[in-house]
Amino acid sequence: MSHDTIELLSQYLHIDTTNPPGNEKRGVAFFARIFEEEGIAYKTYEPSAGRSSIKAVIPGTGEKGAIILLNHIDVVPAKADEWSVHPFGGEVKDGFIYGRGALDMKSLGIMEMLAFLEVKRQGLTPCRDLIFLAVADEEAGGRQGVQYLLDQYPDDFQADLVLNEGGFGLNNVLTNRPLFMFATSEKGVCQIRLTSSGPPGHGSTPHGNNALEKLVQALNRVLSGDNPIIVTPQIAEYFKQLGTEWDFLKPYLKDGNTATLIDALTGSGMINIPQISAMLRNTISLNILKSGDKTNVIPSKAQAELDIRLLPGTEPDAFIAEVKKRLADENIRIEPLKKSSASKSPMDTDDFATIKSVHMAHYPNALTVASLLFGASDSRFFRDKGIPCYGVCPMLASLEEFNRVHGIDERVSVDSMLEGTQVYTDMVKKLCRV
Ligand SMILES: [Zn+2]
Repeated sequence: MSHDTIELLSQYLHIDTTNPPGNEKRGVAFFARIFEEEGIAYKTYEPSAGRSSIKAVIPGTGEKGAIILLNHIDVVPAKADEWSVHPFGGEVKDGFIYGRGALDMKSLGIMEMLAFLEVKRQGLTPCRDLIFLAVADEEAGGRQGVQYLLDQYPDDFQADLVLNEGGFGLNNVLTNRPLFMFATSEKGVCQIRLTSSGPPGHGSTPHGNNALEKLVQALNRVLSGDNPIIVTPQIAEYFKQLGTEWDFLKPYLKDGNTATLIDALTGSGMINIPQISAMLRNTISLNILKSGDKTNVIPSKAQAELDIRLLPGTEPDAFIAEVKKRLADENIRIEPLKKSSASKSPMDTDDFATIKSVHMAHYPNALTVASLLFGASDSRFFRDKGIPCYGVCPMLASLEEFNRVHGIDERVSVDSMLEGTQVYTDMVKKLCRV
């Protein structure tokens, strides 16, 4: 097998690991074959048929706690007829490698593996165990992946640092300088189902107790409620850093007042950008509404599902109580589907300083900021165990490229893949003091 970076990524993208069903075992076989060729021992885990994860270790001196290079093997579904190339073709075209997972996150998985192999090939002894870990089921919540691994094999995953997805390198957000965002925290998840019940009836004679109508009216109260701007300390710092680049933030840099920041974000229209708004608010998205199957029949049941994402400092149960208040309808049942609190890792560690300094060494005029991930990743499971976890991706791309994540024609540029691999390898070596 060729170990050429682009060829390896192309081969990996060729493996269909759409979740559901996952079939991560195929990805595990891909890594296992490489580890065998390189004479590296590995261990696999398979909680149910096909749902595998793989771990390999380069033993260190134990001076510091282990580093885990974490990546997920599974990808979200892709509809081939919507794509201009086959989503599992691994095609290299016009300077890009195409395929579902090109950004999320098979490219990073390959970078992690190449950095890992480099330490092994050079015969270096790291100051800490270096662990490569490719897992199943991130895209569906991690029950067959990290959650299972940490529950069932806690001793196998003792570490002082986890590097994961969630970071971004953006080349078109600031004028003439790249922006690297390292995810040090992520929002909490609170997904709930609402059920309204009532007497059925004929559509010609409305009785005023229509389960669907009641639910729609209550949902309207929930969605029209105010989700105020909350400036968490981390986000205050984030905008302080960006303030050196963005003129409209200058007044905030001067006085450091939260009210000035909110004025600046509102006045500039920034607050209307969904990603910016999501960093500053608890958000509610109504994504499923089910009821009725005949136009002339009053349904006896209606259900809605809400995807709620919470800032650090707001707990799921507290927000569910707020939803209940807004619903203002005792007949609507609330059922939590998924609840996890926001998670964060410290920004003042030596490892975090090393991560930043390696990026600065490769991109001297870059701006680096600690950021909040709006979505959920496997990082939360490690943070819950008290292990610092950072989302780091040294590849540079435009905002538009990142919008292809989970979308159509997902791709990564050959140049940024090659550059990113160099930066990543350098970073891993510095973190291992080799
Ligand atoms: Zn991902």
